[in-house]
Amino acid sequence: MSQKVMLITGGSRGIGAEIAKGAANQGYFVIINYTRGAKEAQGVVDQIKSAGGQAVAIQADCSKEDEIVRLFKDADQYGSLEAFVANAGIIGGQNPVTETTFAQLRELFDINVIGLMISTREAVKRMSTTLGGKGGRIVLMSSVAARTGGIAQEIHYAASKAAVDGFLMGLAKEVGNAGIRVNAVRPGLIGTSIHDLHGGREVIEKWGAGVPMGRIGEPTEVAQTVLWLCSDQSSYIHGALIDVSGGR
Ligand code: NAP
Repeated sequence: MSQKVMLITGGSRGIGAEIAKGAANQGYFVIINYTRGAKEAQGVVDQIKSAGGQAVAIQADCSKEDEIVRLFKDADQYGSLEAFVANAGIIGGQNPVTETTFAQLRELFDINVIGLMISTREAVKRMSTTLGGKGGRIVLMSSVAARTGGIAQEIHYAASKAAVDGFLMGLAKEVGNAGIRVNAVRPGLIGTSIHDLHGGREVIEKWGAGVPMGRIGEPTEVAQTVLWLCSDQSSYIHGALIDVSGGR
């Protein structure tokens, strides 16, 4: 098959769902990964198909290596992977450092860091021109929390995203000569259900008043940046951390 394929982890809701819909509009065959939200993932697939696009949903827990490997193997049947977005992530609870538990950090880092690194490994194995691939584009989902320390009592989340930034910079050096462009996006306060943990949209809209642009961002505003990084319009952008944060 010669169709261009994009795989998005955590594509059933929020930012990932908007990336999926935008990518389908640009002609990608979109593979939407999710863990628990089968109905939501199918809803995104249905929206894409009714607009004339192509997509499929594949369940896999991206905090588990065997499930990540299966996800990529399943994805292979749809064509060669041109773009990969490592988007799946969680906040991992809200509590002061004195109440942090090992189990909490284990779960958080398994998805936000180890799962992201293992899924990126699978993408690089398929894309690398030095391994027989055709090259490709990878976007890692970080957060402005990586440089600000994040929201109060969510420093574990900030630490996990800082690990993503370090991984990005090293990976760019490793794969730049292998036909792969890799970049990271650092969203600020974006209106998705990830914020249900600390009161939902109503609460973050109040925080939005303190953002230099005076408002929170929308998932489509992050998706547009990701899709630009996957396009030829960003052909010399590599190893970059792009803030989508209204100046925050
Ligand atoms: P969201 O609305 O909560 O959506 C999270 C997505 O990740 C869902 O599709 C969810 O699927 C999936 N997911 C969670 N755990 C997973 C796992 N173990 N394996 C596979 N998929 C998993 O979150 P969002 O706000 O769109 O955030 C997306 C990314 O942007 C995250 O990495 C987040 O840290 C980052 N980010 C968000 C903001 C913001 O303000 N929203 C700011 C900075 C960075 P299921 O429903 O099936 O679990």
